[in-house]
Amino acid sequence: MLHINTILQKMSPIPTVHHSDRDPMAPPLRPFGEIHVIVGPMFAGKTTALLRRIKFEATNGRNIVMVKSSKDTRYAINSVVTHDGTKYPCCALPDLLSFKQKFGEEAYEKLDVIGIDEAQFFDDLYEFCCKAADHDGKTIIVAGLDGDYLRRNFGPVLDIVPLADSITKLTARCELCEKKAHFTFRKTTDTKTELIGGADMYMPVCRQHYVNGQIIKH
Ligand SMILES: [Zn+2]
Repeated sequence: MLHINTILQKMSPIPTVHHSDRDPMAPPLRPFGEIHVIVGPMFAGKTTALLRRIKFEATNGRNIVMVKSSKDTRYAINSVVTHDGTKYPCCALPDLLSFKQKFGEEAYEKLDVIGIDEAQFFDDLYEFCCKAADHDGKTIIVAGLDGDYLRRNFGPVLDIVPLADSITKLTARCELCEKKAHFTFRKTTDTKTELIGGADMYMPVCRQHYVNGQIIKH
């Protein structure tokens, strides 16, 4: 009995890793994409880092779009403006799998880079990244929270770590001592995980101030 590798070699004299069943005369496939993940606590500059990366890609002539979560407002194509005044197209969407259809098939085909902000709010992040990078050749740059205010896994951002080319964990400055802050501290006693708020509700803290200040809830 022939070993499976021997059979495959006999069937395919030119060994190919991907798409060995394609017609050799077919036009070349779009190159495979990439997935880069930026995580960290609130106030760590994740969106700024994402926009910097998007700008770098745009100056290299790549076609880019930003996607951010919008659970409660209707779909709209807006623009996001960076500190230096550069404008980029930005879609606010309740989910990612509807992006292609809402953005337009033709426009989607032309896209090279998709930046995703507030990625912790997209339940379909894993499926979207898989499809866009593995099958559609897109470069995906994801920014989002890795943990909630109790330092537990928050949303789907950590789920895509096994898919990613690179992971960057950013830090903020501890609001109490100026040391590096890795965690988000909730100032209120509300225990709902998804409580959207800013500096009035959250602050970045170092480990010492997280441990000293956090009220243990059972
Ligand atoms: Zn501190």
